[in-house]
Amino acid sequence: ISSAELTQIFIDRTKALNPKLNAFITLDEEKSLTRAKQADEMLASGRSTPLTGIPIAQKDIFCAQGWLTTCGSKMLSNFVSPYDATVVARLNQAGMVNLGKTNMDEFAMGSSNETSYYGPVKNPWDVAAVPGGSSGGSASAVAARMAPAATGSDTGGSIRQPAAFCGISGIKPTYGLVSRYGMIAFASSFDQGGPMAKSAEDLALLLNAMVGFDERDSTSLQREPEDYTRALEKPVNQLRIGLPREFFSEGLSADVARAIEAAFAEYRKLGVTFVDISLPVSNLAIPVYYVLAPAEASSNLSRFDGVRYGHRAAEYRDLEDMYSKTRSQGFGAEVKRRILIGTYVLSHGYYDAYYLKAQKLRRLIANDFQEAFKQCDLIMGPTSPAVAFDLGEKNDDPIQMYLSDIYTSGVNLAGLPGMSIPVGFGEKNRPVGLHIVGNYFQESLMMNVAHAYQ
Ligand code: GLN
Repeated sequence: ISSAELTQIFIDRTKALNPKLNAFITLDEEKSLTRAKQADEMLASGRSTPLTGIPIAQKDIFCAQGWLTTCGSKMLSNFVSPYDATVVARLNQAGMVNLGKTNMDEFAMGSSNETSYYGPVKNPWDVAAVPGGSSGGSASAVAARMAPAATGSDTGGSIRQPAAFCGISGIKPTYGLVSRYGMIAFASSFDQGGPMAKSAEDLALLLNAMVGFDERDSTSLQREPEDYTRALEKPVNQLRIGLPREFFSEGLSADVARAIEAAFAEYRKLGVTFVDISLPVSNLAIPVYYVLAPAEASSNLSRFDGVRYGHRAAEYRDLEDMYSKTRSQGFGAEVKRRILIGTYVLSHGYYDAYYLKAQKLRRLIANDFQEAFKQCDLIMGPTSPAVAFDLGEKNDDPIQMYLSDIYTSGVNLAGLPGMSIPVGFGEKNRPVGLHIVGNYFQESLMMNVAHAYQ
């Protein structure tokens, strides 16, 4: 089958399903098919990679040349990117075909996709449920087989939680492995792009193309390239897996606990040893995250001023009024809430009490993980405390919404790699995700253990 034929199949499926699921913000059949034909030429000329000709959906946080790139916001509803994010460029170079731009929470702030200016995304397993967020469009598109793979970004859980809610696999690599250049910034010291797909094997192939040093990202890591597929088939019977007791206490719903336990039983059959560990400071991950991430966001989002690009208010008196009207109109409620929190915790009078204290706790949380990794090779637990909730269920309760990331956000605070794989179903037959956390640069081992289950 040619890439053009394959791409056409996914386009047709997307045309049929997207009106119901709202997973894509932008589709451009002609652009996708043109790329597919170029990929077919690559294949014919022998310049191909294992990914050449395979379609991929791009989260709308990634700038893609000539494509509308909205980041789920009215603020960028007219922004056609003049350049490619490094992730997009690398996947293009590998010969992948951009299928379109996926829906997301506005500026990646959310856990349900309901903060998108383009409306909520539906979970293909149950259209009454949210797909998770912020990479909910990508997760929904892959779960509904509108795309074989997608990109996501993860600041506090945005790849892993939607992957769990939609029954697919997703990985947030070690901070600094995947370039942030052209990935619209939310909280720069947390943000990390990564792949979402059906299986660990697919994720490994995608990581091979996405990871690499980039001089245009000042926190990009310079390392020897590795092949993330190399350990897929290794036996796992020597592995010690830590189970943090804090992740199996109150707050975890019974149906998720059951599915996770069943997965552990499978792992025991494969010879894995489980050890009891503790992450004593992990209960502070959410409060620390919600001081630091908004602080960075308030600074990053100051660039959206109506002057250089994006939305600008139609009528205004003077410059000040133009800024104010543009930002009032361009940002949604959740984004404004984050800007207010961030500005507050960074303000002169409160800096020491909130921002500085949170920075210190961030270090303690990272130390917790390092202590734990003295006793185990990997850490496992649930990705999220419950299965996908209903659309609208947590909309007026930000704190409940934030708790969706209780197991994932500590990993971002520490900069560690984290992954979610599907391990069955919970209440209402909605998918459950198993969270696998590795030490820095242990992605291959994580692929290995995920593949052993799959
Ligand atoms: N749900 C978290 C938030 O709203 C994490 C989002 C993300 O990882 N981008 O900030």
